[in-house]
Amino acid sequence: MTAAPPPTFHPLEVTDVEELTDESVAVTFDVPAALQDLFTFVPGQHVTVRAEIDGHDVRRSYSISCPPGEGRLRVGIKRVPRGLFSTFATTELAPGAVLEVMPPVGEFVLPTDLRDKHIAAIVAGSGITPVMSMINSGLRLDETCRFTLMYGNRTSMSVMFLEELEDLKDRFRHRFHLMHILSREPQPVDLFTGRIDSEKLERILSSLVDPRDVDEWYLCGPYGLIETARKTLELHGVGNGSIHDELFFAGDAPPVPVVAEDEAQEGSVHIGFTLGGRRSTVGTEPDQTLLEAAMRVRQGLPFSCKGGMCATCKARLVDGEVEMAKNYALVAEEVAAGYILTCQSHPTTDTVEIDFDV
Ligand SMILES: Cc1cc2nc3c(=O)[nH]c(=O)nc-3n(C[C@H](O)[C@H](O)[C@H](O)COP(=O)(O)OP(=O)(O)OC[C@H]3O[C@@H](n4cnc5c(N)ncnc54)[C@H](O)[C@@H]3O)c2cc1C
Repeated sequence: MTAAPPPTFHPLEVTDVEELTDESVAVTFDVPAALQDLFTFVPGQHVTVRAEIDGHDVRRSYSISCPPGEGRLRVGIKRVPRGLFSTFATTELAPGAVLEVMPPVGEFVLPTDLRDKHIAAIVAGSGITPVMSMINSGLRLDETCRFTLMYGNRTSMSVMFLEELEDLKDRFRHRFHLMHILSREPQPVDLFTGRIDSEKLERILSSLVDPRDVDEWYLCGPYGLIETARKTLELHGVGNGSIHDELFFAGDAPPVPVVAEDEAQEGSVHIGFTLGGRRSTVGTEPDQTLLEAAMRVRQGLPFSCKGGMCATCKARLVDGEVEMAKNYALVAEEVAAGYILTCQSHPTTDTVEIDFDV
């Protein structure tokens, strides 16, 4: 059997950079005909984008915000304070630029069967991006499905995709229920003013959105929002299986040094890994992650966030055991099938064998 090629970057041209708010942009990439199949995506998936910024190789994950089938990719990027990539994207990036982009991945996706489904999303800030794609395609694909969106922002000026959401609300009036919840701008309805905390969610779930009427829940944004929403939904009897989340930011990950392509055997633990059909070995210590160890001997390892959130560094554990410090990306079925996030996995046996190609 031929090994699947490892996920690689492809140069894509930026065709549009649209200012969404003072601190966010929608960046559109052209996908040439030859790459259309590779860049096919399901609403909710994300891509890893790479650019050289101030001499650094910077890679970040961005969710696709447009519906599939348009022959293009659009991502929404919101600037974070002192953020390397997001500052570059929102202040310097212009049409004509070419960035390296990896094909779409991710399990935070719409169900394939939308018939009679009521889908609800609780998101904040840039967490709208994957849900934008879901709403845009779901409402068009199946006229029996409904969406409810609870969208938190500071003020109306900081709402990404505001006009597009209003258009969707007008066009699909009976199937799209949109709630803006603004933390720093008083709204006519008190319930929609303030942060999305457990008390506010509790009130919304008791008065406006009956959780028993919702089939699938999608949570996206910072850690606090996802945890609060998940706990409140569980208190309302929503089962874990119908809650999906995508975490954009969990904390800093240490930088990983890259050394020459070679074998390195020193260390008490012996790691073997296959990437692109080629096996390499490296000796390491348990305090190093498998990704850190592998990067010492091979270039081209797939990774992006290094925080357990994006799953770009996913591999299958073939032999040995590991402990995953964090996992915000793999679903239970993947973990049961032996998949691990190599950026978070530390070896707990003397030998470990992993495969990035499956
Ligand atoms: C699966 C996935 C999908 C994502 N999709 C999107 C998307 O669609 N749109 C989008 O704007 N972002 C998205 N992100 C976040 C994005 O990948 C970057 O983390 C973000 O743009 C910041 O990168 P940066 O280089 O500007 O900041 P960095 O230079 O990495 O960090 C600068 C400082 O900001 C802090 N920081 C980093 N990221 C965040 C954050 N998200 N919130 C608050 N503080 C932060 C860091 O700790 C550091 O102190 C996604 C992340 C994941 C894992």
